Amino acid sequence: MLSARIRNVVLGLMLAMSGIGLPGTSNSAESAKQVFGRQALPAALKPQSHGFYSKGCLAGATAMPWDGPTWQVMRPSRNRRWGHPALIETLEELSIKAKRDGWNGLLIGDLSQPRGGPMLTGHTSHQIGLDADIWFRPMPDKRLDYSERENMSAISILKRGTPYVDDQRWNRSFERILYHAAAFEDVERILVHPGIKKKLCDTVKGDRGWLQKIRPYYGHHYHFHVRIGCQDGSPGCRSQRPTTPGTGCGKPLDWWFNVALKPKKPAPNQKPGKPKIITMDQLPKVCAAVASASEMPETRAVYKASSLFGFSVPALDLPERLDPMAALASKPIEAEPQKIVSPVYTDLSILVSELPLPKPAPSR
Ligand SMILES: [Zn+2]
Repeated sequence: MLSARIRNVVLGLMLAMSGIGLPGTSNSAESAKQVFGRQALPAALKPQSHGFYSKGCLAGATAMPWDGPTWQVMRPSRNRRWGHPALIETLEELSIKAKRDGWNGLLIGDLSQPRGGPMLTGHTSHQIGLDADIWFRPMPDKRLDYSERENMSAISILKRGTPYVDDQRWNRSFERILYHAAAFEDVERILVHPGIKKKLCDTVKGDRGWLQKIRPYYGHHYHFHVRIGCQDGSPGCRSQRPTTPGTGCGKPLDWWFNVALKPKKPAPNQKPGKPKIITMDQLPKVCAAVASASEMPETRAVYKASSLFGFSVPALDLPERLDPMAALASKPIEAEPQKIVSPVYTDLSILVSELPLPKPAPSR
């Protein structure tokens, strides 16, 4: 009989050969999305963002509660309701402002995984707990059950088949919610579809300074994306370069309609691009320790929102422990996933919102 030590060595060798790490461990060449995609709970460490929005991880994450008086978290099976506590706080405050401005509340989409990092599906950013997607669909008057949260579709704010906002659906409350989001000092960027940015450029009166934070990008007409800056206490967090001064209306925005959003035929000999795989050694070194740190119990990790005081939390019929691999099966938020026309990209699990910018592109 093999001794336990030898057995472990043999097991380790077999796993190394098969490319599978022991649970909670990682080797440097391993695909980082496999390591971070299987985490069910945050690392029991103090809250810190490590690295960049699209290449990093998150320690000591806090969870957005599934329900609050002014929000509901969507697609629970994905288990992406985790963020730096400052992000969760911002979302709570934004939801309260939304309510005051005629939205019943917010439907919260993806934040980060429990320990951040690259994801098995969708998003190249959202890795360090400072990004959040919010649906362009106000919270309904009732509490959604688990299956409704999994299956309900977000609604596009664009007129079908055009890159412009549908005036039948657009109203002042959309402007107000984006204004409120931009008004937070912590919020550095809000990504929206160029058609939405154009609507704001054409209609916002008075103070227009906040439009600087509203950045046009692919996708983002079913949801908008709020990005806060690096927080104190995260020395390893790498800031994004500041947005260009000015509202970003006019010429830089025209480029989107005249160049970026124009359908292009792929060149005849164009080879399909390979999806980029981020390995553990491409992330900040500390991310391996974040991945293998012991778990913070869920009860400790959920944000204690002040607005939850006196709110009777409805029972949400969640599975006992969310299966980290379930994200693979969860529905996209769009009723019909969009066909990607340009540029050509083979990995359809990457959302259109995360496609690289064609060159030359104005600054984001
Ligand atoms: Zn996003």
